[in-house]
Order: sequence, then C-alpha cells, then structure tokens
Amino acid sequence: MTEPTTTNTGIPVESDDESLTAGAQGPILLHDHYLIEKLAQFNRERVPERIVHAKGAGAYGELVVTNDVSRYTKAKLFQPGARTESLARFSTVAGEQGSPDTWRDPRGFAVKFYTEDGNYDLVGNNTPVFFIKDPIKFPDFIRSQKRLPGNGLRDHNMQWDFWTLRPESAHQVTWLMGDRGIPKTYRHMNGYGSHTYQWINAAGERFWVKYHFKTDQGIEYLTQADADRIAGEDADYHRKDLWEAIERGDFPSWTVYVQVMPVAEAEGYRFNPFDLTKVWSHKDYPLLEVGKWTLNRNPRNYFVDIEQAAFEPSNVVPGIGFSPDKMLLGRVFAYADAHRYRIGTNYAQLPPNQARAAEVNSYSKEGAMRYHYNEPNVPVYAPNSFGGPHAAPERAPDGGIWDFDPAIVRAGYLRHAEDGDFTQAGTLVREVLDDAQRERLVRNIVGHVLGGVREPVLGRVFEYWKNVDADLGKRVEEGVRAGLDDSSQG
Ligand code: NDP
Repeated sequence: MTEPTTTNTGIPVESDDESLTAGAQGPILLHDHYLIEKLAQFNRERVPERIVHAKGAGAYGELVVTNDVSRYTKAKLFQPGARTESLARFSTVAGEQGSPDTWRDPRGFAVKFYTEDGNYDLVGNNTPVFFIKDPIKFPDFIRSQKRLPGNGLRDHNMQWDFWTLRPESAHQVTWLMGDRGIPKTYRHMNGYGSHTYQWINAAGERFWVKYHFKTDQGIEYLTQADADRIAGEDADYHRKDLWEAIERGDFPSWTVYVQVMPVAEAEGYRFNPFDLTKVWSHKDYPLLEVGKWTLNRNPRNYFVDIEQAAFEPSNVVPGIGFSPDKMLLGRVFAYADAHRYRIGTNYAQLPPNQARAAEVNSYSKEGAMRYHYNEPNVPVYAPNSFGGPHAAPERAPDGGIWDFDPAIVRAGYLRHAEDGDFTQAGTLVREVLDDAQRERLVRNIVGHVLGGVREPVLGRVFEYWKNVDADLGKRVEEGVRAGLDDSSQG
C-alpha cells in the first residue's frame, strides 16, 4: 500500500481521476479545491528562464588542492590538501531552455565552492575571453544574438552587424568560429574564469590572477555538420552525456591552474591585464597548478539543484577579490540582481545556494518565500545590545580594494603597448591554429555568413576578417562570394 496522495497541506485527496461536477455532464465546481490547486500549481511550475545561459546541465563535485599556492592566497579553499564541495553548471548562452545543446555558442562554466568562509562562485566560460569589454554594451550584445523583435527569429545579419560594429569582439568571434565553438561534450572543454581576479596572501600582498580549468578528458569538438545532425537527433546531447557519465561512475575532472601577475607588473604589461577581450600569454605568465576538480554526483532534482542554482561573482571569500576588469564589476551587480528577479529575494535560501560549510548570521529578514529565520530573541538590527552578530573586518573578504587614479571618467581601458582589437585574434589564427583548423575556421565563418548576412554588414565582415588576418579575410570573402554566386544561380 503506497501513501495516500495529499494536497500541498497534507490532506488526503479523494481522486486523481475525476473532477467534482454537478452531475456527470454538469459543470466543474469551484470548490473542488484540489483540482484548483493542481491546475494552479501546474501553471506556476516554471520560473523565468535565464535571459542568457538558459539551457544547461549541472552536477555536484569537489575541489582537492594538490599544490601549495599559499604564497599567493590565504583563501581556505586553496590551502594545501583542502577539499571543498562544489556545484557546477554548464550552459549555452543565446539559446532558450529547449534549444539544442550543439548550437555554436560559447559555453557557460559556472562553479560554486561551499567554503568555510561562505560560498565562493566563479562564473566563467569555456573561453578565456569575451565579446565586449564594458558592461554598458552587454544588453545590446545579447539582444543582437537572440531574436528579432518582429518575427521572433534569430538573425545572422544582426549578429554580424553588432560584431563588426564592435571590433573588440574579434578575438572571441575567432575563437567561436573555430573548433572550440562547439565542444563535443561538456566534459571535453576547458573552463576559464576569464576575468582577472585578485588573490591576497596572509601577509596582505596582492596579486592579479586568472583561472584555467583544463579538462582531463582532453579537448574534443564537433564539426558543424555533426553538430547540425545531433541538434536534430537529440537536443539534450550534452546534458545527457554529463548525466550518463556521472551515473556510470566515469567522473569528469579538470586540473585547475592559475596565472599569477604581481600587482606591480600590471601597468607595464604588453596587454591591458583587465581587458576581458585579451588573454595573458602563457609565455609571460605560465600556468601554476592548484588542484583537481571532479564532478561526481548528479542532481537529485534538476529543477531544484540546477535550474534554481544561482551563481554570482559577488560571492568572494577572504583571500580573493575583484579587479578593475569592468565586465567583472558589472557582473558583480548584475548576477545577484538577475537572481532576485528570477527566483526571488530569498534565493540564497534555496538548496543549491545555501552555505553548506559556513554559518549564515545575516540581518536580512522577511520578503517573499522566506523560510529560514533567526531565533525570535535575536535582534533584527545592528548594532544592538543583545548579542546579535557584528561585522568582523578581520574575517571579511579584503578584495574590494586596489589603487587607482581617482578621476571619475567615462573612458576606455588604458591602452598597453600591444593592445588592439585584432592583435590576439591574429595570433590565434597564425600561431595557434594549424592548416586544417584554419580551413575549418574559414568554412565555419563562410557558412555562418551565408546564413543571411547582407550589405552593408557584409562588406564590414570582410574588413573585419582581413583585420584579423589578411589571408583569412581573403579566403572568407572568396568563400562567401562563391556561395552567393551559387545561390543566385541555383
Ligand atoms: P600559447 O601558444 O602559449 O597558448 C596557446 C593556447 O591556445 C594553448 O595553450 C591553448 O590553450 C589554446 N588553444 C589551442 N588550440 C586552440 C584552438 N583551436 N582554439 C582556441 N584556443 C586554442 O600562446 P599564448 O598564451 O601567447 O596565446 C596565444 C593565443 O592563444 C592567444 O592570442 C589566444 O587567442 C589563445 N589562447 C590563449 C590562452 C591563454 O590563456 N594564454 C588560452 C586559450 C587560448 P589551453 O591550454 O587553455 O587549451
């Protein structure tokens, strides 16, 4: 005998088969409150999907520190031998909830660490750079990648219009159009913190850092043709792969590295180290191993654990801080704000977002869906005379400060010796990719541009690629013109 079905308040219900009606053929009665509860609950099952990164997958795991980086940070989770529970969410960016996993797009790589000093979140991507370097451009960028207002269709012309009018996108677009623009699975891609962060050691010395999570499964990608086929066969290909790998005990892992730049070197570095469209060359700042990050536990309930997961770069712990990276500073505001809108004021009380290794002694109170609260005799204001919690600067994160020129301005990043919108994109094309990768890059760009890009955007697309690399630009133009001729003849 199974347990009786009950209403949401525990009252056993009479039927899951028949509604209450006035006679067998009569109208349904409003006082069938169980029917009403059932339909009303169903109507409210969805929370708004994320405006970006709506489609994803996730799992729990842990970080184990294998190296000693304590000379750079006092953060407890990075001390030798530390083991910290973690939650990951991977995602595409522009597609909606049901969109295919294999569309060409950067992938989100969000990580939460449940540390003794509170939750620490890294909200990265599978690329070390991004399309834009200032958050004031973010809504425009995302709208250009989503759907036209009139017909609700995605539009390559709109995408390339934005990219070519914002040439700082060139590095990321080169990356996106290359092999890594469609990973084979979430297990076969790297994760990058992308932003520049701050680490602070026990002596109070500060360093700039970049995080790299290198896949232990090896980098693998899908060709455009395979990705297109899989999109039709199984839209959830990546979500399924991650779930099934963990179910069979084949736990994916990543080796975690950082690049560390002494604060004094930032000013003279050949690239502006806070510009999110640039990397720090590995040759200048070699990767330093930190530890091993493994995913070993599937969510018990996808909605609860993954759909409600809220990652926010504002979650930093002592020993870690922010930097003058403007995109990071914009996101420090925007993520928490998005969660308040999407899953409510008290989103930090939801299971995946609760602190697990730290105590929460917050003065925040009430608001919709509050279900944790302080003891009745604990004051609800600070300061107070009744033993309530008090701010403890010696224990708080100390990464919100750095030296800067205090004029308030609207200005771009300071230009460093080798900065330029196309410099690193050109390096990627000429020095990192081999001939076969370059050929696929050309083909991917040509195929994408032929998907609806028109003048005057088209002419700018050719210029854009010639600025990245003259030969690449020439090949793109030839390929597109040949494709246009074919289609006009066909
Ligand atoms: P390196 O030669 O030391 O590094 C090149 C890096 O490029 C590799 O280590 C690898 O990064 C990455 N890479 C390899 N194949 C591809 C590919 N098909 N698509 C995208 N990235 C690939 O040179 P630098 O560090 O001086 O960087 C040169 C260029 O490499 C940069 O302009 C940038 O475009 C790209 N790059 C640099 C990264 C960095 O953090 N320095 C990271 C990723 C790309 P990984 O080991 O992370 O897989």
